[in-house]
Amino acid sequence: MLTRKDFYKEIIDNLPEGVAICDSDNTVIEINKNFEKISGYTREELIGKEVFEVVRPSSKETCAVCHEIEEPEDKQNSAFQLGELKDKDDRLICVRISQSVINKKNIIYLVIPFSDIAFLNQAHIDFVSTVSHELRTPLTSIKGFADTLLSAGDNLKKEQQLRFISIIKSQIDRLTRLVENLLTVSKLEARSTKTIYKAVELEKMLESVLYNLEHKSKNHKIKVNILPNLPPVWADTDKLEQVMMNLLDNAVKYSVHGTTVSIDAKFAENDSEKVEIKVKDQGVGIPQEFLSKIFNKFSRLDNPLTREVQGTGLGLYITKSLVRSMKGDITVQSNEQGSTFKVVLSAVSPETHTQQRFQENN
Ligand code: ADP
Repeated sequence: MLTRKDFYKEIIDNLPEGVAICDSDNTVIEINKNFEKISGYTREELIGKEVFEVVRPSSKETCAVCHEIEEPEDKQNSAFQLGELKDKDDRLICVRISQSVINKKNIIYLVIPFSDIAFLNQAHIDFVSTVSHELRTPLTSIKGFADTLLSAGDNLKKEQQLRFISIIKSQIDRLTRLVENLLTVSKLEARSTKTIYKAVELEKMLESVLYNLEHKSKNHKIKVNILPNLPPVWADTDKLEQVMMNLLDNAVKYSVHGTTVSIDAKFAENDSEKVEIKVKDQGVGIPQEFLSKIFNKFSRLDNPLTREVQGTGLGLYITKSLVRSMKGDITVQSNEQGSTFKVVLSAVSPETHTQQRFQENN
């Protein structure tokens, strides 16, 4: 059993920032693991020292690295100030420092190295650059075909005109899909979508998904195999429908006509309180080295079908976020014979199910 002190120590050790707790005269009385990692000093080496021997606020003028960085205009109210941390090897590390006084006698310093902030900035820059590229490609195509129709439309044959218009329409559809996916990503990342749990009957849910996919899946054989008497899953109907839609849409997109896509649902292996739903295709497969990247934002693999079919590379990222938001898990296995995506969700116990039915009917 953890004592209360060990419990708090564990929390502080697991904070992503470097933490130094000091006396009112700035003598270090405790540091966390991340502070050890950032500074290179051990806890024993720092306790009893004045914190300013290691970390101190700086200004743009004095810091060689910080003068490149935008400082917040409202410095007084800013939670974090610019600072420098001198590590054990006497290297100066540019950091953000926040200082707060507790109990009128202890001072807590929180330290974040700029390399971490730069990493987040880089992720943001990469995101904006990828989105701009994804937007520019269809826009260039739309502009090109619209210009041709305007300047030479009268001299083009009717079929050519129709072909150009249908390309413009398909590029607009692509843009619409991208914008819709980006909105979903932004809602999921802001955690502004609520998960409304209820007992979802797989058979009924799949019927509606397959109906909506009918126009895309008409060249494939779709097989559904749900274990008899399998309980419903505890999920959000709309979210689960979107998950199945994305997985089935991919299974169809990345496999040739005439092949089979199967959906199997049964109790999860070694856990009868969970249900697993597998979507299996006989498609092009995903190379092993890409399997770990497949759920990342904008990851599209280069294979003949990916070049042929349209996509945004956001579908599986959204799918995984949706599954996670329902406290479930999603994994993938793949080889040259095809891919299998497995979604695991909680099964609804018979008592909860009966209770819910009763509430719905009254
Ligand atoms: P996209 O919009 O490109 O389909 P996804 O995030 O849904 O985006 O998928 C990312 C990439 O993963 C796809 O571009 C494709 O290369 C690969 N992929 C996804 N599902 C499958 C599948 N069932 N079979 C083969 N490759 C797949």
